[in-house]
Amino acid sequence: MRVTILGSGTNLHPRRAAAGYLVKTDNLFLMDFGPRTLSNLLKTSADRHQIQYLLFTHYHADHFSDFITFFFDAVCHSKFVSPRADLRIIGPKGTKALFGTILRTFPSFNDSEFRVTLKEVSTRSFSIGSTRVTPVPVTHTDRQTCLGYRITFQGRTLAYSGDATYAPNLIRLCRDVDLAILDCSFPKNRPGEAHMHAGECGRVAQEAGVKRLVLSHFYPIADRFDVKKHAAQVFRGKIIRARDCMTLSV
Ligand SMILES: [Zn+2]
Ligand SMILES: [Zn+2]
Repeated sequence: MRVTILGSGTNLHPRRAAAGYLVKTDNLFLMDFGPRTLSNLLKTSADRHQIQYLLFTHYHADHFSDFITFFFDAVCHSKFVSPRADLRIIGPKGTKALFGTILRTFPSFNDSEFRVTLKEVSTRSFSIGSTRVTPVPVTHTDRQTCLGYRITFQGRTLAYSGDATYAPNLIRLCRDVDLAILDCSFPKNRPGEAHMHAGECGRVAQEAGVKRLVLSHFYPIADRFDVKKHAAQVFRGKIIRARDCMTLSV
């Protein structure tokens, strides 16, 4: 399994795209689709028209907004250039209402040549080909259901936290995984609400028995401090500071 970080920042980070990850197993799929991640997707060798699954953790704009551009392109491409495979959009409660409205409302969105299906998930595992996906609700804000995802393929497991705070459900999500990508919005010395700082990411990784920890989802303040060092005060394993367009083997 391979994962490419399409975005390691947040909404208006000046140098990093917001949240988005391209996963290659026996299928090609995205987890989140924040602003500027589509531009980074175009820099990879992946064919965007081959992507059949979009997984969303939640619908804050920094995880979602490039879907609009992607989908409009997919509609035009399938109509005027070549057909594309069906698209399955998967996310937490609220997915059907949100995408139902978008698909009905944006011009041309309701007459795509390919089929679009919407699926809401909460805790039950499901398969994408031979890839096993387990959603785990994590704790982010009171008003948002946010899911983390555990992805298992050929005996290897990747966990992605979405946006999360330190809590037992996050430890469960990351239990014994080969690679965990965690929300590291803040440095330890400048913590904030609704997200983790680097020290908490290290704590999660250590308690969950993670093998490699990827710190990502940086607010600009996180780039002014040594977040790897903050996480390493607690976590003994390998720590990677995410960069846009970085590809990791799992
Ligand atoms: Zn969020
Ligand atoms: Zn976010």
